[in-house]
Amino acid sequence: MRTQSSKLQNQRTKSGSPNETQISLIRCMEKEIGAKCPSCGLLNLNVYFERGNDSPLGAKCDSCGLTGFFMKEELVPLTSV
Ligand SMILES: [Zn+2]
Repeated sequence: MRTQSSKLQNQRTKSGSPNETQISLIRCMEKEIGAKCPSCGLLNLNVYFERGNDSPLGAKCDSCGLTGFFMKEELVPLTSV
C-alpha cells in the first residue's frame, strides 16, 4: 500500500511540471512597443525581451504583420510559407 501511494505522487509531479514551465516562461517575457518596423517603416513593432536580459528575442509588427527573431541583435524576418 505504501508503494502504491508513492507511485501516484510521482505521476502527479511529472504531469504538473510542463505546465508550470510554460507559465514561468511567459512571465519572463517583456514587451516593448513602438519600435520601428524594418518592413513597413511604421513605429508599430513590438519587441519581446527575456526578463532581466537586454538582448531582444523576437518582434511582431502590428501594421504589416511582420514577425521575426533576433540573431546577434539583428532582426531576421520569419516569412510565412
Ligand atoms: Zn511593419
